Amino acid sequence: MDYDFNKWMSDYRVISAVGENDEGGIDRLAYSDYDFAARTEMLNRAYGMRLQCYLDAAENLWFSKPGTDPDLPPLIIGSHLDTVPNGGRYDGVLGVMAGFQVLRYLVDNKVEHRRTVELVAFSCEESSRFSLSTIGSKLACGLTTPEKLRNYKDFQGHSPVDFLSRLRYAPDTLEERKRHIKECLGYIELHIEQGPVLESYGTDIGIVESIAAPIRLRLEFTGRSDHSGACPMELRHDALAAAALTITEVERLGREEAKYRSVATVGTINVPHQALNVVPGACTIQVDIRGIHRDSMDRIYEGLESFLKKLEKEREIRINRVLLSDEDPVPLDRSLGEIIERNCVKTGLSYRWMPSGAGHDAMNVAKLIPAAMIFVPCRGGISHNLSESVSEKDLRNSIQILYEVVMDICR
Ligand SMILES: [Zn+2]
Repeated sequence: MDYDFNKWMSDYRVISAVGENDEGGIDRLAYSDYDFAARTEMLNRAYGMRLQCYLDAAENLWFSKPGTDPDLPPLIIGSHLDTVPNGGRYDGVLGVMAGFQVLRYLVDNKVEHRRTVELVAFSCEESSRFSLSTIGSKLACGLTTPEKLRNYKDFQGHSPVDFLSRLRYAPDTLEERKRHIKECLGYIELHIEQGPVLESYGTDIGIVESIAAPIRLRLEFTGRSDHSGACPMELRHDALAAAALTITEVERLGREEAKYRSVATVGTINVPHQALNVVPGACTIQVDIRGIHRDSMDRIYEGLESFLKKLEKEREIRINRVLLSDEDPVPLDRSLGEIIERNCVKTGLSYRWMPSGAGHDAMNVAKLIPAAMIFVPCRGGISHNLSESVSEKDLRNSIQILYEVVMDICR
């Protein structure tokens, strides 16, 4: 595959930097103006290449390069363009841009291929805005509905549905999209690893066997606000202190299950009306439990539940549990993985089979059609961080392996 890497890189720099803030991080939150701006950049390029473009009812952006045999089910490749707040330049966007280069190569070099190749940029993959991840692919795959999404709100009180209806949301087209995906041969997502394994072992490519799933909860503690000077310790119902105990218990439960590769995190805490001289009467935290073994995830969840019951009694506070998501770990398709393996061997790239600790759109698509993931190393395993970084060698490898796999399947 002979192409101008520097030309790709200059395109990459433009699109991956949309939403850059003063610190150098990227604020391309789902459905934000920057998110739309990045899509527009992609669309402008795609029109120039005469690719077919389509925006579905879930705000997912599709590009299609038709093959010569319209009877063959298409192959889908892709990832996402949105970032976490103050995020990096590779999470999601690398998969989309590597896929874009594959399409560009096919167009520029008039490469014949029988099977149609479709590239998708799924919307709202990151959970940082609505505390729910992969919203675009969930909608397109029929795994959630706009009605259910109304319960999810960002800090300004917007639900994802507000943004869908802002454009041209129509429920029947979601159905159409699901039907279309089901007719496709498979889905391949290239993504940075977001962990340290590939770099530590000096491996070029990860082939993902299964994707860990999250159980996510919001815990709303209600105690009683009191004067921090006048209320003696034995009469207090301190919601923040109860939440603090819960945070360390979540960590303890996670550590206990670490041998099964499960993890447990409290990532947010919110104390309304906080004041130095008030015993906190309310506090909200969010818990993120993930694993590739359901039993292990359930043990953390159940351990937390019995801890909360005890805590409510001991401290005479109320704890409202809101289940934000509860998903099962998803095994990916073995035969698609073996095609990736075969092409690593062919191109001389080292590889290893591995699980994905993070969730990805592939886990939703895998419910409908065979899905696979290609991981590439990122420096230090750092992700969701402005210092996310991928070496030039690994960027080149990303495009190369994706191209080989696409051609293997679509030629
Ligand atoms: Zn991602």
